[in-house]
Amino acid sequence: MEELELAIKELKELLPGLKILENEPLSEHCSFKIGGPARAIAMPSDVFSLSRICSVMKEHKIFPMALGNGTNFLFPDEGLSDMFFISTEKLQKIFLNEDGTIYAESGVSLSRLSGFAQQNGLKGLEFASGIPGTVGGGIWMNAGAYGGEMKDAVQSVVYYFYPDQGLYEQLGKDCQFGYRTSFFQNNPAIILSAVFALDKDEPEAIASRMREINEKRRAKQPLDLPSAGSAFKRPEGHYAAALIEECGLKGYRNGNAQVSDKHAGFVVNLGGATSKDVYDLMMHVRNEVYAQKQVELHPEIIILPPDYKLTDTSPAAPKNVTFTNGDYEKIASGTGTSAAKEEN
Ligand SMILES: Cc1cc2nc3c(=O)[nH]c(=O)nc-3n(C[C@H](O)[C@H](O)[C@H](O)COP(=O)(O)OP(=O)(O)OC[C@H]3O[C@@H](n4cnc5c(N)ncnc54)[C@H](O)[C@@H]3O)c2cc1C
Repeated sequence: MEELELAIKELKELLPGLKILENEPLSEHCSFKIGGPARAIAMPSDVFSLSRICSVMKEHKIFPMALGNGTNFLFPDEGLSDMFFISTEKLQKIFLNEDGTIYAESGVSLSRLSGFAQQNGLKGLEFASGIPGTVGGGIWMNAGAYGGEMKDAVQSVVYYFYPDQGLYEQLGKDCQFGYRTSFFQNNPAIILSAVFALDKDEPEAIASRMREINEKRRAKQPLDLPSAGSAFKRPEGHYAAALIEECGLKGYRNGNAQVSDKHAGFVVNLGGATSKDVYDLMMHVRNEVYAQKQVELHPEIIILPPDYKLTDTSPAAPKNVTFTNGDYEKIASGTGTSAAKEEN
């Protein structure tokens, strides 16, 4: 893919300090520990370099894919030689706003976010303390557990909108959160940060609820083996794990992938599993559950096929990319405040 090579070359010239991992095994960047090399993974350390990366990529009609902690991906063994990822690993700012809300950048882990809330006497993120993803991935998925979901805590999200290269702030209520879905799944956007609005409570009471949730998690889930969490979404009116177990598939093995014998909703890597082992196993489970129960299971894990690539088909980028300085006004349409500043 010539355009991708040109874009990477241009990026290196434009941002010499930017960390870019080239031909990097994706198995090193996901909880399944599966996946061949991605052409490149860029690790911007701030919003400005992330925006510049996107701007260069857009000129070459490439859409970069965001990568959080990689806890919801199944990457192909063959790798993704046409894919360019932007990792949020270095976007790690978190602080308490004066009004008591929490600001967190997209690379902050959900466990760090919930721990920060607990230390500051803020409840409502206990459910997230054991989810191994990031703020960005959690919002993208509307991650949830034990009765809580990201949507209950997100006041607003700031994201880079790829088609017009602008920064936007969107209120949580407008993020189209649903069961494991959000606005961001249907729009080419990279989440930069979010603000969380939570209620006050005693730190010890919050800590106790977190301990209780995490004990339940440890007791039920195969946390000692690589996985990507629940393999399938919950079908309406059913539980995927119960259906799989009732179909006699708990512990079912294909190559080195297995339906966990501890929790039938998880597919685990017993060591050296290939993406094909996992994929074929998931398809077998899906077919068998349908045959026996007439219930269709849909993967919760994002499965990327070997030849996957993302191209940009949106209109050309505006020449001057404009950013806010933290006021998060909608500026791309020209409604920005005087606080907005020109990058170029
Ligand atoms: C042991 C285990 C337990 C789990 N338990 C739960 C659970 O209880 N509840 C639950 O909901 N999930 C659970 N998961 C799944 C997973 O942790 C969540 O879906 C999590 O939200 C994914 O976050 P991530 O940072 O790892 O995202 P990634 O896997 O890196 O990415 C997932 C998707 O989000 C997109 N994305 C990531 N960051 C951004 C960003 N900044 N901007 C735009 N898009 C972005 C990616 O492009 C990708 O499409 C579990 C996983 C494991 C391994």
